[in-house]
Amino acid sequence: ELCTFATGLYGDADGRARPVQVLVVKDDHTFELDEAALSKILLAEEVRDREVVAISVAGAFRKGKSFLMDFMLRYMYSQASDKWLGDADEPLMGFSWRGGSERETTGIQIWSEVFLVDKPDGSKVAVLLMDTQGTFDSQSTLRDSATVFALSTMISSMQVYNISQNVQEDDLQHLQLFTEYGRLAMEETFLKPFQSMIFLVRDWSFPYEFPYGQEGGMKFLEKRLKNQHEELQNVRKHIHSCFTNISCFLMPHPGLKVATNPHFDGRLKEIDQDFINNLQVLVPWLLRPKNLDVKEINGSKITCRGLLEYFKAYIKIYQG
Ligand code: GDP
Ligand code: MG
Repeated sequence: ELCTFATGLYGDADGRARPVQVLVVKDDHTFELDEAALSKILLAEEVRDREVVAISVAGAFRKGKSFLMDFMLRYMYSQASDKWLGDADEPLMGFSWRGGSERETTGIQIWSEVFLVDKPDGSKVAVLLMDTQGTFDSQSTLRDSATVFALSTMISSMQVYNISQNVQEDDLQHLQLFTEYGRLAMEETFLKPFQSMIFLVRDWSFPYEFPYGQEGGMKFLEKRLKNQHEELQNVRKHIHSCFTNISCFLMPHPGLKVATNPHFDGRLKEIDQDFINNLQVLVPWLLRPKNLDVKEINGSKITCRGLLEYFKAYIKIYQG
């Protein structure tokens, strides 16, 4: 089955773009990197020597990550055209609603197609989309998830932390754990180890207090990270010491059809207008060519080929 987007076709058939599980955490808590699959993506001739922008969306299962990423794909496939959002009746395709990609595996999936984007400064960059998932239900799965999150933070230039309803103390403590894992594994440097962190709050239900979007998000986050007891103050300091840019975006609930109808196929017609309006702000804000930052490690820009090497090296650290 194929699906038409603004600039072409993709779907399930062989040879077409799809999510590829490159890292899996197995039941015995060991990590498995599919090096062949990762190499195939990152060493493709057109992209391997390009500087890479790696965008990761991370968080727990069943919180709408794939749903969002499918819209990110629409934007990438339409190369930022005004009509990127698509038609009202078009089912959503990509990371979700695709056989095999719905297994609840802790790990990292990468979209098999790396996008080439022209930035306004004349450079051409390669854009990689990553879906990172974890479970948080027990000590051991929390540790697995922390490692996966740490890895995805280490190899991405933008980490979108997808959380539900609010920024809870848990979310912050998890984030501290993830980034601590990541920082420990990296070389000491005077530079901040990571680039951008975006708190993406889904189903935000206090727009009269802090309006949807990025400005409301920043005000909310500042307030949330202030006025806290000492322990959270440390979390806050820690997060600020790890990331060059920290921001927050408040998303409305997408409506009951999205949240509860098992036959919902992603068509816009059935999504609340408030959600769509904010999607139209969020996705270009994240992915507009001007806003795509190349991955840097210790102050040097990284190519796809370089990213593969780092990925392999970082995983070795955790395999111990
Ligand atoms: P993932 O496991 O985080 O990738 O979650 P999915 O994208 O597969 O979505 C899980 C379920 O939540 C699906 O039934 C979606 O239709 C629904 N969903 C998607 N976005 C949202 C959202 O913003 N809020 C709510 N409440 N549900 C959502
Ligand atoms: Mg998913």
